[in-house]
Amino acid sequence: MNNDLKPVMEGIFEVGPPSRLNGAICPECNKKFFPKPMVCPHCLGEVQNIELSTEGKIYTYSILRTKPPYGLPQPYAVGWVDLEADGLRIFSLLDPDRISDLDFGKRVTLRVGAIGVDNNGQACLRYYFTPKDGGEQ
Ligand SMILES: [Zn+2]
Repeated sequence: MNNDLKPVMEGIFEVGPPSRLNGAICPECNKKFFPKPMVCPHCLGEVQNIELSTEGKIYTYSILRTKPPYGLPQPYAVGWVDLEADGLRIFSLLDPDRISDLDFGKRVTLRVGAIGVDNNGQACLRYYFTPKDGGEQ
């Protein structure tokens, strides 16, 4: 990985290793969030930083074959991934090199890599989920 590259957005994830998503929890509601909200959207209380699970399951996904934004590969895929350990469903880019391996319910694991460009057109790091080998459920 090119260590000069910056995350597409500061604070959303840790580049690692190990790569982690920076989530939040509301201690009042006991609900978790990603990305971290300024306050809890349910009780407007203060939220605390937590590290989220790096393993999940594809709830649904879509392969996009139109001209991609932000220098993403063509085609690319996005989807909703269930982080079961956190009780969270999060939106994510999915591994553009493994598009033919994507499927509903597929086990996936978090990665960070150089994909596309940021708002300023600079190459950057993005988080994505990739199929876990041998991991269908
Ligand atoms: Zn709350």
